[in-house]
Amino acid sequence: MARLFILTAPDARLKQKSRPVDKVDDQIRRLMDDMLETMYVAPGIGLAAAQVGVLQRILVLDLAKDGEEKRPVRMANPEIIWVSDDDSSHEEGCLSVPEHYASVTRPRAIRVRYLDHQNESRELEADGLLAVVIQHEIDHLDGVLFIDHLSALKRNMILRKLTKAKKSDAEPVRA
Ligand code: ZN
Repeated sequence: MARLFILTAPDARLKQKSRPVDKVDDQIRRLMDDMLETMYVAPGIGLAAAQVGVLQRILVLDLAKDGEEKRPVRMANPEIIWVSDDDSSHEEGCLSVPEHYASVTRPRAIRVRYLDHQNESRELEADGLLAVVIQHEIDHLDGVLFIDHLSALKRNMILRKLTKAKKSDAEPVRA
């Protein structure tokens, strides 16, 4: 397995729509495993392929807590086929929006259809944190970041700070 580079906002690649996968084959399985390794090291609980610069509709997640056995979930072409009438709000962060957190309101529960790592079609009903993570990652596949759910004022403030942080990272070391 290999660790991948996680893009951070602002980056035009994070705003693009990802293409569906034809079939989950060895190459896609390898990408899913590399994404999981990258996510565990980051550390994060979810990662979309777009975040590592691959514009294919793939996401991985694992909600196991520290010390628990890993429970990796791999999805290709995830599609939300039902959402609950009621919403809930959750504090969200993102590996592509480092060090910023904000409350985002989304449907409380969802049903999602996807291809698993064996190319089998599956359906999963999710609520709570699982529903939040799946919706957050599917947003990435459509070029949407959690900050896009905030007011323009809040979003622009975060993007300004991220741009500033990127610039200071790029400055030569004066030693
Ligand atoms: Zn994210």
